[in-house]
Amino acid sequence: MYAEVVIDIRNKEVDRPFTYRIPAHLRDLAVTGAPVMVPFGKGSRLRQGYIIGLRPDLPENLSEERVKEIDSVPERGISVQEQLQALAIRMRERYGGTLYQSLSVVLPSKLSVTPKRERYFVFLGSDEKLYELSLEAERKKHYAKLRLLAAFKDNRVLPGSIVTDRLNISAATLKSLQNQGVLEIRSKENKTDLPLITDEDGGNTSLQKQKTLNEEQRLAAEGILAEKRRVSLLFGITGSGKTEVYLSLIEKVLAEGKEAIVLIPEIALTYQTVMRFYERFGSLVSVVHSRLSKGDKCERFLLAEQGQVRVMIGPRSALFTPFKNLGLIIIDEFHETSYISEQVPKYDTVEAAEMRAEISGAKLVLGSATPTVSVYYRAQKGEIALFRLNKRAVEGAELPQVTIVDLREELQAGNRSMFSRLLQEKIRERLQKNEQTMLFLNRRGYSGAVSCRSCGEPLNCPHCSVAMKLHRDGRLHCHICGYEVMMPKSCPQCGSGLLGAFGTGTEKVEDMVKEFFPGARVLRMDADTTGGKDGHREILEKFMHHEADILVGTQMIVKGHDFPNVTLVGVLAADLSLSVPDYRASERTFQLLLQAEGRAGRGDRPGECIVQTYLPEHYAVTAAANHDFYGFYRHEMIFRQQMIYPPCGTFTALTLSGADEKKTEKTIQEIAEEARRRIQVPVRFLGPSEMSIYKVKDMYRQILYFKTKTTDDMIYVKRMLEEISGECIGTERLFISFDR
Ligand code: ADP
Ligand code: ZN
Ligand code: ZN
Repeated sequence: MYAEVVIDIRNKEVDRPFTYRIPAHLRDLAVTGAPVMVPFGKGSRLRQGYIIGLRPDLPENLSEERVKEIDSVPERGISVQEQLQALAIRMRERYGGTLYQSLSVVLPSKLSVTPKRERYFVFLGSDEKLYELSLEAERKKHYAKLRLLAAFKDNRVLPGSIVTDRLNISAATLKSLQNQGVLEIRSKENKTDLPLITDEDGGNTSLQKQKTLNEEQRLAAEGILAEKRRVSLLFGITGSGKTEVYLSLIEKVLAEGKEAIVLIPEIALTYQTVMRFYERFGSLVSVVHSRLSKGDKCERFLLAEQGQVRVMIGPRSALFTPFKNLGLIIIDEFHETSYISEQVPKYDTVEAAEMRAEISGAKLVLGSATPTVSVYYRAQKGEIALFRLNKRAVEGAELPQVTIVDLREELQAGNRSMFSRLLQEKIRERLQKNEQTMLFLNRRGYSGAVSCRSCGEPLNCPHCSVAMKLHRDGRLHCHICGYEVMMPKSCPQCGSGLLGAFGTGTEKVEDMVKEFFPGARVLRMDADTTGGKDGHREILEKFMHHEADILVGTQMIVKGHDFPNVTLVGVLAADLSLSVPDYRASERTFQLLLQAEGRAGRGDRPGECIVQTYLPEHYAVTAAANHDFYGFYRHEMIFRQQMIYPPCGTFTALTLSGADEKKTEKTIQEIAEEARRRIQVPVRFLGPSEMSIYKVKDMYRQILYFKTKTTDDMIYVKRMLEEISGECIGTERLFISFDR
């Protein structure tokens, strides 16, 4: 095995990475991102470098005799900046994109804070050139320049001390960028007010008396601490008291002088959740979330780096909190899709957290009531430690009773409405008893797409290949790019006046509820009603205070909220999320159904759940109805094994997008041909083909899938594809990215 090593990423602008042999005794330590000592130059003096990639073979122009060997891998004592930098390097290797893009996700958010008086400030002159310059810097391996440019992605002004001390930028680099007109250097004072943790986040410090853990919880907490394996899965049913286990773990970690990061899906990051941490740890706790200003976030990260804050709570970006002595990372509800970033690098927070845990020497705890098939598989194999919580922590709370309704039978019986007869009856019952109902449509953005009923043509967005959707304001909206237009009077294709919306959007459900249950008070929650800053909180508050009898909504309504008065949950069409073209469709559906069921009967009254479906015998539906994770897992694994989908192999997509339709298509075909010809490791390519949503924001999108047996092969194939794409794309304006 060989390593690509960049010599001293902090100080020098080296021209290129150098290839070194990895001696057998360093195999385990010499991972991507690791700092290494290597002999360099004529005298083979030892210099510090970083591994930015591994390779099984030598580059063609290098012979075995001329390759030097890595001397050593320093084990500890790397600074937090280096740890995060190493993380960026590994994320780039895993998810593609440029090192610049990874660095700007991992590093810079805290850089605009000005802790002391500054002698000078560096201003960004023009951000037009920023991206292109950074590409150039990356190509030329000018890492210092790259770091600085990455820092400017989030900040227009950087204090001099940050630029020199923390980013380690030399005067020469600054000067050259200044000469290019990218930067300005001024010695003016720049005052920004940076508020500390505010009351809104519950900055009070009254310490709560802790609950005594029950037997299961105690075994889990003690087990995780004693565990040699780095990653633990805390598999506990809803209400089993996972949070109490987290609190106990954090307490131990703090007592050892280390710090903890707690990741929570943004939507579940409620005042109540955060309060439980404040109550236990007071002002050692801080929170970051997406509504926070850049400055506030920076301030909190800086407090973390200085050790004043020692527990950071937040959505996925909190993973990059610059704790120097990180002891523990917790990911609550780790199966949530919001943990997968939608921007390059499209990282999976669970994987990135494992990388950070390795680099920082911390433990990682993954908590969920519905673990992903991939993580559970690793637990089965013993790679991950497994701890179970099978009992609800509060006496009496029972799992709801679930009934599956076959919608085909409803149709046969002449019921064409979206509510089965059973569901109607149950809703009426709840209205009479003054209890609340939640109606759940398990697919985001699925609302009436408009098409012509004469010729069948959909009314597509002119910029994207999706049908636009009719909103109550009488306008057509594109849910991808936001384009809006008045609903035309007649079909642009055939002139017919018979235009109509199909499908079952949440708006339509709301209308139907009003029609079927006059007098019932209805609230709706979806991407359209939660646009404002606190839109979704307001709706949830209202529902909590019983200002409505029925809450209609998408996935948002089933994520982690407790409504004691809800005794009925209706899933309107379980199939909607099953028909998505994704190998994880069954898994996602199972998780959503279990979550939806979990919303019913959280108080002292028993709950009930009605699942409507056209596929009543599908295993995701039946297993969810029986609260049977193992049943689901066994069935799903057979499918994954047959198809060689993860965890039985890797599955990755290369997408190529460009404004020129012909060129994009031609180029992806070239890439695929070259890849099939040149790549030697075992890999299966599928495609290329047009993506299911082919055109987005005037860009045409082609996709090439590939499957490999091992992650190492996947990383190798990805790197080769990057190389091949680079050659095939040349100077064309085409863009690649990798997805899973
Ligand atoms: P989960 O995160 O697993 O869904 P929570 O941690 O939110 O569960 O706990 C559910 C409820 O049980 C909470 O109201 C919590 O205060 C309570 N609880 C948890 N552990 C205990 C315990 N050991 N003793 C008493 N109550 C507990
Ligand atoms: Zn028509
Ligand atoms: Zn559009």
